[in-house]
Amino acid sequence: MACLLKRPASGAALDTPLTVNGVALINHQHGVSKNFTPKVSTTFRLIAEADAAYAAYAAMVKDAKRAGLTIVWRVGYRSYATQKALSANPPPQYGDDGDSYVAPPGHSEHQAGLAVDVGSPSGRGVSFPKTKEFAWLRANSYKDGFVLRYPAGKTEITGYHYEPWHYRYIGPDAAAAFGPTSTLTLEEYLGGP
Ligand SMILES: [Zn+2]
Repeated sequence: MACLLKRPASGAALDTPLTVNGVALINHQHGVSKNFTPKVSTTFRLIAEADAAYAAYAAMVKDAKRAGLTIVWRVGYRSYATQKALSANPPPQYGDDGDSYVAPPGHSEHQAGLAVDVGSPSGRGVSFPKTKEFAWLRANSYKDGFVLRYPAGKTEITGYHYEPWHYRYIGPDAAAAFGPTSTLTLEEYLGGP
């Protein structure tokens, strides 16, 4: 897919993410500098002001609770420095394929405080899709503005393998275009990588 969204590869422009139709796009093609350090909440480590990722996530967890389910928070915000250390030493379970799971520094949505990795008391990581919490999220996360960011079968578009645990906040209006159990990617939605 051609790169339809242009932006400089260096300089002060990278101190904030590329934003398309009000949605921040951070991927392999579009990064941010180490100067991008958004203020995040103490609980859940998500953006609490302006963009309502924190409140939306808290609401989503409550909605799941009402359905008798427990979404287990694992990771929210991750700094540039932490991402740098992580990508230098990817978790061993990814083998030689760490790059397709762990973003280079400046290219992780976790640095924006807009992404969350979750699990269930009965399974996490590659076991998460077998859980009721996963099924509930797939059916309902869009209502609270979250989408499954790296669906199965979309590696060529996203640059990432299937990550059933990684949810991205894009807001309820944009997420409505995705709907339940969607395999649409943010790149497709915004019209280019
Ligand atoms: Zn993640």
